[in-house]
This record gives sequence, C-alpha cells and structure tokens, in this order.
Amino acid sequence: MRPSRWQLRQRALALGPRGWDDATVSDDRDTEFADALAEAGRRVGQAMTDALERIRPAVGALAEVANRPEIRAVIERAQKALRRRPCLCFCLRAHPADHDVCEMLDAVITGQCHSGLLGDVDVPLCAPCAAARAAHEFAG
Ligand SMILES: [Zn+2]
Ligand SMILES: [Zn+2]
Repeated sequence: MRPSRWQLRQRALALGPRGWDDATVSDDRDTEFADALAEAGRRVGQAMTDALERIRPAVGALAEVANRPEIRAVIERAQKALRRRPCLCFCLRAHPADHDVCEMLDAVITGQCHSGLLGDVDVPLCAPCAAARAAHEFAG
C-alpha cells in the first residue's frame, strides 16, 4: 500500500529540524562561512563607500579650486617652470662677484664647465650666469 501524501508529510515532520540539520550540517557550515565572507566583504565595501563618500566633497572642492583662474595660473606657472631647464651653474664658484644674478629655472645657454674631475662638460646656464661667467673669466 502506497503511503498517502499526508503520511509522507507526517514522516518528514517527524524527522524534525534536527534530522535535517544532521543531514546538511557540512553544507550549512559552508553556507555560514560563505555568508560570513559575504558579510565581511559587504562591510568592507560599505566602509570603502563611506570613506569615498567622505572624501568626495574634498575632491570636488579641490577640483573646483583647481579650476579657478588664479589657481590655474599658479599651476601653469609651476608646469612651465618644470618644463624649463634649471641653470646648473655653480654660481658661488664660477662667478662669486655676481652670484645672485642667476635665473635658476631659465637655462638657455649650454656653457662649458671646467670640472677638474670630468674635464670640460656642457652644462645648461642661464643668460645672466653665462654673462657673469664670461666677465669673471675676463677679469680673472
Ligand atoms: Zn651662475
Ligand atoms: Zn644661472
């Protein structure tokens, strides 16, 4: 005689939650672990999002500041300065009398530097330095 549907249901209920737990405990542990991982990931993700949310206004403010014309001018001047060649004249040694004429970031001339160690080497010089060096050489 085939068990009725009601009887099958009663048998399943009789196993109870414990019966099902024993059968699926390893699965449950994996699921728990996965859940814990997912939860940790969610929390880290949330923390990251929170942190990003918190710095976003600062970044926005920075971008806003950077777009202001007076700030742009400063940035452009800095970029131009970086593109320039620095004057590598050793002013105090090469032309001590006029050591303060140097335009440090405006090297336009390649001059000869008499280095005892390396011999004559080409170094970028700014115009005032080149002139001061020439004057110093003529004088000396
Ligand atoms: Zn110099
Ligand atoms: Zn110079």
